Amino acid sequence: MFNKNDELQVTITDQGTSGEGIGKVDGYTLFVKDAVIGDECLVKIMKAKKNYGFARLMEVIKPSDSRVEPRCKVARSCGGCQLQTMSYEKQLEFKNNKVLNNLKRIGGIDLSKVEVEPIIGMDVPFCYRNKAQFPVGRNKDGEICYGFYAGRTHSIIENDGCDLSLQVEGQNVCKDIMDIIVGFMNDYDIDPYDEAARQGLVRHVLIRIGHKTNQVMVCIVINGNELPHSEILIERLSVIRFVSTVAININKEAGNVIMGLNTKTLSGLGYIEDYIGNVKFRISPLSFFQVNPVQTEKLYAKALEYAALTGKETVWDMYCGIGTISLFLAQSAGKVMGVEIVDAAIKDAKLNANINNITNADFLCGAAEKVVPEFFEQNKDELSKVDTSEGSRRSGAEVNCGAGRSGAEVNHGSELCKPDVVVVDPPRKGCDTKLLETITLMNPQRLVYVSCDSATLARDVAWLEAHGFKLEKVTCCDMFSQTIHVETVALLSKIA
Ligand code: SAH
Repeated sequence: MFNKNDELQVTITDQGTSGEGIGKVDGYTLFVKDAVIGDECLVKIMKAKKNYGFARLMEVIKPSDSRVEPRCKVARSCGGCQLQTMSYEKQLEFKNNKVLNNLKRIGGIDLSKVEVEPIIGMDVPFCYRNKAQFPVGRNKDGEICYGFYAGRTHSIIENDGCDLSLQVEGQNVCKDIMDIIVGFMNDYDIDPYDEAARQGLVRHVLIRIGHKTNQVMVCIVINGNELPHSEILIERLSVIRFVSTVAININKEAGNVIMGLNTKTLSGLGYIEDYIGNVKFRISPLSFFQVNPVQTEKLYAKALEYAALTGKETVWDMYCGIGTISLFLAQSAGKVMGVEIVDAAIKDAKLNANINNITNADFLCGAAEKVVPEFFEQNKDELSKVDTSEGSRRSGAEVNCGAGRSGAEVNHGSELCKPDVVVVDPPRKGCDTKLLETITLMNPQRLVYVSCDSATLARDVAWLEAHGFKLEKVTCCDMFSQTIHVETVALLSKIA
């Protein structure tokens, strides 16, 4: 048993799911943030429990072979990255193992019967994020500053050039934009927002970058209705030729939600555009869009490969967001139905279908676990028809997708809506059982599961394996290098 403030030497032998190093001293387990497997280090206990404790890394006595010098000077204090001190190769190994261990331990899956493909890593594990949200405040000298929040706090760690942010033609546009904004605030006495006092104007700056278009959007989140002298700011920002839209977002609420509901465009069209594959997307300040466009294409390509589309199939894309997967797959499918709970995202999905002239995608708005069972209930005679041959099964399943469903904004007459393939891409908490039940009743041939949390993926795969599906293939894809997050694509097939 050790006590708070004890200093001791420990060798790190394991890595926890949040990336923290784990070591043992006389049977006592220590969790050490910022330590890497193989490090021999001096640590100080910050919190001591009976059998384990949390310790602070004081000194690396003998570095692990996997340890690298972090590229970013605030890597340790900033809350953004957890794995910068680990070589990228080891990061990928850590992520892959995490997913496979969860499938084994939580899902009870026998991986010897599954084709586990190599993790899809990034070619360049930095400069990938197309979105940055900088809090603006004052540093201890009272100067206006920006950066990122330290882990689990709201104190700003100053950072003028996050190494994860995309650059445009080699230019660190985020830094250049932020420097212009801070200069403008100083020149016109515009205060940053003070969270404690709930005073001051500028809270955050959101920057979004079109990876393929080089279009850049700047959105200033303010605690007020107007940004004084905004015409000067627009003029100053125009020096950066990539900036195509400047907007303000109004957020007068206390609390830590970054964006308010209302946005006003100050210059430009109010959105930027970017592509995933050859599908064009319109991105507004409030729209959700995948943050790593390069890896997103690789992830979707894997999902498409697993969906094994021939051009005729009906695909249901559950949790479709703005329809990125739906529209990507629509090009290779007969018909796609996307389902999403956020109304604004569905509007974006429909708009994006239109601007790409994609006419074989429709969208249902509502909680998937509610609208899909309702849809099934109303069309169950057609949807639950079991037929063996692909052709007759499909022609036997002509369901009128527009048939009087509440919340269902589709109306395109008689169409094939019985799924051959279902794709799910749920939030962290995974799929609702009610939805999984309905999917099994809808009886697709294949289910492609895109997951951002392998613990809930494992739980849901176990459920599906107990209900007529078999996990065939798994591929992890790294969308967020330097962080602990990892995406997984899994293919499940219906057992004949
Ligand atoms: N497939 C999309 C978005 C995935 S993120 C993409 O790749 O871009 C998960 C999405 O699920 C979010 O858009 C979220 O709004 C949506 N969502 C969350 N709960 C939901 C529910 N119960 N039913 C339908 N959609 C839901």
